[in-house]
Parts: sequence; structure tokens; C-alpha cells
Amino acid sequence: MRRRDFFRTSLAAGATSGILAASSTMAPAAEETKLAALPGDQRDKAKLRIGSQLRGWIPGKNDAERMAQIKKWGMEAVECWASVVENPKEFKKMADDAGLKVAVICGGTDPNALSSPDPATRQKGIDSTKESLEAAAILECNGIIYVPSFNSQYPYQNMTATEIRKMLIDTDPNTREVKSSLLKELGDFAASLGTDIILEPLNRKEAWFLRMIADAASICRDTQSAGVKTMGDFYHMFYEETCNMGAFISGGKYVKHVHFGCGNARVLPGQAPEHGRDTFVSGFRGLKYIGYQGFMTFECDCLGGDEKGVEEVPKTLEFLRSCWEEA
Ligand code: MG
Repeated sequence: MRRRDFFRTSLAAGATSGILAASSTMAPAAEETKLAALPGDQRDKAKLRIGSQLRGWIPGKNDAERMAQIKKWGMEAVECWASVVENPKEFKKMADDAGLKVAVICGGTDPNALSSPDPATRQKGIDSTKESLEAAAILECNGIIYVPSFNSQYPYQNMTATEIRKMLIDTDPNTREVKSSLLKELGDFAASLGTDIILEPLNRKEAWFLRMIADAASICRDTQSAGVKTMGDFYHMFYEETCNMGAFISGGKYVKHVHFGCGNARVLPGQAPEHGRDTFVSGFRGLKYIGYQGFMTFECDCLGGDEKGVEEVPKTLEFLRSCWEEA
């Protein structure tokens, strides 16, 4: 039995065994009512708010035209890369003119510098991260994305997983009292600006440290800073998570952003049958459960090439909206 089939079967079994207090003869509409009544379910608050990075499959001669196209497709937000830190006001004006919010800055940190054993290099990393957070505040966006350790850093970083976590947040193992924390300093600075530093779990091909949302959420919890959050990327989650619904519920209140992508080729949702509808419905079910209202943005290519974007994007938007409905 495939995982997606198991999930459906489990829900049905739960309903008939009384876990969901629903009977097997209950009409579909009534079953939905019972699901919504599960303790802690905040689906009434949840919203599907889609945005995109400025990818090549978005037609336009420049960023302003691409943003206008994003809006035309019915999306709400644009996501920028770290280069925006040099001139956030210009990017913000373009987004405003297009009628889009800015979702997050993808990047904006120098992980090598942040974890450098050399104090001067490390301070440079802290200073540049704070500069990115100031840009995020100007953009009025949800924060900057931070990957603490890429696979490519290993020879440089030369730290074990335990050592990296301790660098991010060093706590007493019995009380979770914070002893010292790089992340708390950055998170508190972010919170003072009304934005966040967002930990992104990646799959094993890209990162050996921090691959699951629950792990990142536990770092958020231990840091005890209002400005430290996490996120889920459907592309990475497909490799690492056993259940997308469970992953987002584990992230809970710490989930601040979501990336879209699917399949080994990392393409638009709906374009990779091996990573299809059920994984998105499962993830959306988790996001609905936690009452998620943040942005979900495309971080992927278009199968068939950029020129296919015009015909493929409406299809992927329809696909995602129908998955959200089903969830
Ligand atoms: Mg991502």
C-alpha cells in the first residue's frame, strides 16, 4: 500500500473506529464537519495565499513586468533574493506598483561567516544578517530565510550536528534554559523590526543538518525568541517527511513560510506525477489545521522550459486551489 492510500485508509478507519467520532454511514458533508471539530483545528482561519519568486517562466522584460504578470495570474506576493538588500526601497516600490506584497527574502545570510570559528568573520556574518533583516523590515516582508549548514559547507564548517545546534542555541538539557545563542540574538533583533529569521529544512542532497520541520521547530522553541521561525518546502519535504500533514502540524505556530516545487526535477506542482495531488492535499490539511495564513511561493522550474510558463501556470494554480479545497 502506498503512503497516500494509507493516509486515506487511516482517515476512514479513524472515522469508523470512533477516533473522529464519525460513523461509517455519515454523509461526506457531515464527516467534514467532524474533521473541522477536531481539538486544536484552526482551519476556519487558514488561507491559501500564493506568490512567486521571479522565475524565468514568468513572461516579462524586467522585474516590474514579471511582477505585473504575477498579479495578473491572481497571486498575492513576490519573493526576492538576497541581492535586494542593496536597494530594498526600489524593490518595495515595484511590488507596491504591481499590487503585490513581498513574501520573504530568500537568503540574506552568509552561513559560512555566521558559523566561522574566527570571531571577526563571525561578527561580519552577524552584521550582514542584521542588515538583511533591516531590508526585510523596509520590504515589510515576513523575514529572511536561513539555512544553517549546506552540505557544501562541511569541509569549511567542520562541525558535528550537535555542535551546530549548540552554536545556534545552547540550552541546559534538563531545563531548556538558554545559556548562549547566536539565533536568539538574531531572532530578537528581527522581532524588534517586526520581521523574522526563518529556518529552512532542506533535503539530504543539499543539507546534512536540519532536514525536517519538526527539528527546526524544536530549535525555534528552545530559542525562546519571537523572531525565530521555520518553514516547509514541498520539494524538500517529499524526500524527508513521512507525512506532510504531520510535518506542518509539528511546525505549528513556528511555520512562517512555504515553498512550492515537486518531483526530482523540482517543477511546478501538478507537473510531476510521482509527487502528486495527495502530497499537496496532505500538506494543505496540516496547514489548515494550524490556521496558516502566510504566503506560499513558487521556488521551482517549469517542466518543458520557461516558454511553457504561460500555459502551465494557470494549470498549477488551479491544481493547488483544488487541492486546498479537498484538504
Ligand atoms: Mg526552498
